[in-house]
Amino acid sequence: MAEQSVLAYNCPECGGSMVFNPNKGKMQCEYCDSLFTREEVEKYFAEKEQKMADRDAGKDWGEEESSMKGYNCSSCGAELIADQNTAVIRCPYCGNQTIAPTQFTGALKPDYVVPFAFDKKAAIEKYKEYYNKRFLLPKDFTVSSKIEEIQGVYVPFWLFNGTVDAEGKYEAYDSKTDGDYVIRDYYDSERAGKMGFTNVPADASVRMQDSLMDSIEPYNFDALETFTTAYLPGFLAEKFDVKEDDDRSRAEKRIEETVKEKLHDTLDHTGFDVKDEKVDIHFNETRYALLPVWMLTTNWNGKSWTFAMNGQTGKFTGDLPVSGLKLGLLSAVTFIATFIIGSMIIG
Ligand SMILES: [Zn+2]
Ligand SMILES: [Zn+2]
Repeated sequence: MAEQSVLAYNCPECGGSMVFNPNKGKMQCEYCDSLFTREEVEKYFAEKEQKMADRDAGKDWGEEESSMKGYNCSSCGAELIADQNTAVIRCPYCGNQTIAPTQFTGALKPDYVVPFAFDKKAAIEKYKEYYNKRFLLPKDFTVSSKIEEIQGVYVPFWLFNGTVDAEGKYEAYDSKTDGDYVIRDYYDSERAGKMGFTNVPADASVRMQDSLMDSIEPYNFDALETFTTAYLPGFLAEKFDVKEDDDRSRAEKRIEETVKEKLHDTLDHTGFDVKDEKVDIHFNETRYALLPVWMLTTNWNGKSWTFAMNGQTGKFTGDLPVSGLKLGLLSAVTFIATFIIGSMIIG
């Protein structure tokens, strides 16, 4: 119990330090401003401890294991999980039918899932709509006849949580024109702040192209549900094969860019030069989640074409071969915190 009261000072949301807010009568996170009662924090850590103990004891899936089947694609090596009654004939990643059932060997059980928001019929309709509107593929590329083969895949993701301490020094300026002259007023600006971040995603699948995934993001993580196998029937889930630590640098890059953007947004001038910037990221708990994607992979002209649709929002990508996809924008980072800014304007 004594241990728990120490842990209780860390924010369940982002891991930041918490202080007691006497006005609200609650614990408040210094990074993301989340409020919790002491009971809520203690309950959170008790549950977390139980989960860790279950994992250590190998009780990941428990009873549920007997209702699951494993599959291996001998062509691309994808390891998939499906419900006992879900027929799997085709690999969603490479489109090959060289997929064989294997023993389900208790993999790490996901913490969370974003459920599919629409069924296969609706997904097919969305594909068709897309083709009718703007499809510019060669005539003999008969993807339309293959649309029925789309598969709902839960793609494994790591969701990173933590806090950031950031500071920057800038030479900001305001420009105005006066006849033939451009007049610039310069300001020495300093910015510093703390932020909490939750659910910064990085996909944990080797086969899922990062560029493809990036272009169907973002997902809305308000819809995250605690994972149970009840979400699986009719769908495939891939086992993660990128470890948490190997994905961290991808998340770091996203966080750093977003934090810098936030700092720059607070510079209220027409322009600025960066003199110095420091972004200190502290990772806290990482969550393992499955995110829904409708996938269709088909071969044409010796090339593999992959089409993907966000199973939550319907956002679609697929008019280019995978290799030519543009990198998506870093739009999926959701910071839950308001930025606390200390600023100084000199001169
Ligand atoms: Zn927090
Ligand atoms: Zn495959």
